[in-house]
Parts: sequence; C-alpha cells; structure tokens
Amino acid sequence: MEPNLMKISPDRKKIFQQSSSIVIKVGSSLLVEDKLGAIKKKWFASFIEDIIELRKLGKTVIIVSSGAINLGRKILNLKDNDLTLEQEQAAASVGQIELSKEYQEHFKFKGFICSQVLITLDDFTNRRRYLNCKSTLKTLLNLGVIPIVNENDTVATDEIRYGDNDRLAAQVASICDSDLLILLSDIDGLYTESPKKSKDAEHIPFISEITEEIEQMAKGPENDFSHGGMKTKIEAAKVTTSVGCNLIIANGKKNYPISDIAENKATWFLASQRVKAARKKWILNMKSLGEITIDFKAEKALKSGKSLLPVGATKCTGKFSRGDVVAVRGEDGQILAKGLTSFNQVETEKIIGIKSEDIPKVLGYNRKPELIHRDNMAFFN
Ligand code: GLU
Repeated sequence: MEPNLMKISPDRKKIFQQSSSIVIKVGSSLLVEDKLGAIKKKWFASFIEDIIELRKLGKTVIIVSSGAINLGRKILNLKDNDLTLEQEQAAASVGQIELSKEYQEHFKFKGFICSQVLITLDDFTNRRRYLNCKSTLKTLLNLGVIPIVNENDTVATDEIRYGDNDRLAAQVASICDSDLLILLSDIDGLYTESPKKSKDAEHIPFISEITEEIEQMAKGPENDFSHGGMKTKIEAAKVTTSVGCNLIIANGKKNYPISDIAENKATWFLASQRVKAARKKWILNMKSLGEITIDFKAEKALKSGKSLLPVGATKCTGKFSRGDVVAVRGEDGQILAKGLTSFNQVETEKIIGIKSEDIPKVLGYNRKPELIHRDNMAFFN
C-alpha cells in the first residue's frame, strides 16, 4: 500500500523553531510506572526541564497530561484493569491531586508557575463555556503560567466523555490558536500496519493530507492502560491540521523527550496551507485596534518575509491586548499590512525602537522578540 508520502521533506527544525505556541500531550504510560503505579521520577524531571527550555525560548506551553486514573488506581489499590466508570471517576479524583502536586512541585522548584485546568467535552459544545475556557487559557498564557490540562474524569459520564486525551489536546490546541501539538506516546508515529504484528510495517514520516487510506492504517489501543490508540491520534490530527496547527506523534519514552524532537523518528501531520491563506484573509478582514508605524528598513525586512521586531517600530497608537489585530503603517504613511500582536499596547510602547536583546531588561521578563510574527501578518497587495 502506498501511503500519502510527501515528495519533498519539509524542514522539521524550522517548523519547530517557528512554533511559538505549543501544546504537549503526555500519555499515561510515559508518566506512570505500570507496576508501581507511581510517577517515573527521572523521566518526569527531564520532561519538566524540556518544557522550561521551551519557555526560555519564549514559547508558550500547555501540557495536556494523562495519568490521574493510573495514579489513583494504585493509591486506592484497585487492581482490576477493567474498572467501572464509577471506579475510574474515584481513581481520577484521587490521582488528579497527586498528578498536580508533582507538576507543581517540579515547576515551583524551577521558578515557574503552573495551573490545573479540568475540561469535559461538554465545555467545548456549550458556546459560553467554550469562550470561557478559551479566555482562561489565553489569560494564563499571557501571565506566563504553564497550564496543565486533563479531562475532568470525575464528573464526565460516558456520554460527555472523551476518554482519551488526544482529542482533548487537539481541541485545546485549536481554541488556543496553537502552532504545534505534540502527542508524546510509546510509539514513534504512524506505520502502514502495526509494527508489533508485521515485519513489513513501514514508518510514515510526513502526512500532508489525511486520506481514507491513512485512516485505515490507524488501529485501536495496543496497551491496556492507555486510552488513546492511533485512531484517536488521527482524529486529533484532523482537528489541528484543519485549523492551521501542525501535529507530531512522537515516541516520548526516552528522557528529555522534546529536546531532539525535530531530528527523531516521528510522524508529522502538516497543517493545511489553504487554512494559512484563509487565516491571512481573516486577519485582513478584522478591525484593527491599534497601529504600529515602522521605518523603511523594517518595511524592507517585512517584505522579504521577516517578522516585525521592536527595533523597526517608531510609533504605536490605539489600545490593544496581546493577540489583537493591529495595522502596520509604513514611514510614508501607507497602511502596509495587518497582524496579530505578540505584546499589548503598554508593552509595545515600552519596547518600541529597542534591540531584541534589551526586551527582558525593559519589561522585566523574557518573551519572543517579534512584535508581530510573520505567520500572523497579512499584507495588502
Ligand atoms: N484522563 C485520563 C487520566 O488522567 C487519561 C486519558 C488518556 O489516557 O488519554 O488518567
């Protein structure tokens, strides 16, 4: 069977470097020791260090973490693999507090703040709750927090339950307009057939379109303790790629699971280019809440495909928050483009005209230097 292979391999390192907003889903089998039912200490500490590295690069990170049921099962001494829904809910209730404690202790020790966000499928189908969820997550990110998301297993009954964190992570990435979702699991991506069952199974490094054939290759869960199999990962990929977010399925078993992700064997689902074009159109149609004037040098840089840096800006007007649309005005007075700002107007006023390396000194915290990232900018022709 000929999978939907890409003819030219895209530059994975570049995609990774350019992703400023990342969601990472970590599966239960990576986090929790099957036999002991406890957190894998060494692996966990290395994972936290990887996240901190990403934060230091100015990226925002949301973690979608499984593990509550497995941790709670051990604490409650529930040995049977097939727990009833009520037992799973009780295990999740006990395990979630343990899981959050681990994250909090590790991040606090390194000087970072994390938070707990529990979501049900229902929260995404009810518009008011959907918008609440979106604004809470965005506010947390703007405050420099690392949100730790899990399904609210304790109250989620079968009808309103995802049951796997792959699709939950895809929804989170979608509402947060993330650039990249990494699904860390115990397999290094999609194969033409199950590598556990067939020697002929071929690994698929890139997928640019999720065809019927790709869907057929996905199988159910292979492991008793993990709820999401390849099928839910493909469903997650359908959601993210259709909203312009790339997705990686990677094997996270080794310590420091994120550090070499762009070089390691994995399957990359690439976001639809059509969506990127639609996004630019959407940006141009949005009402701008402010204006940033730039010099000729910056105008030249933008036209050659670069992002807008504070050093090229000369003036800012209006009242805007991070993520709002602002117009970009050239030195000759022409409106050149519109874009989503990475800084609010108070921050922008402070950093206008300064070099990127001086931003932390002026603001008192570190952030990616672009005022407007090139992916978030659309030009008037
Ligand atoms: N929400 C479940 C837990 O925390 C995990 C679901 C999954 O494994 O994807 O245990």
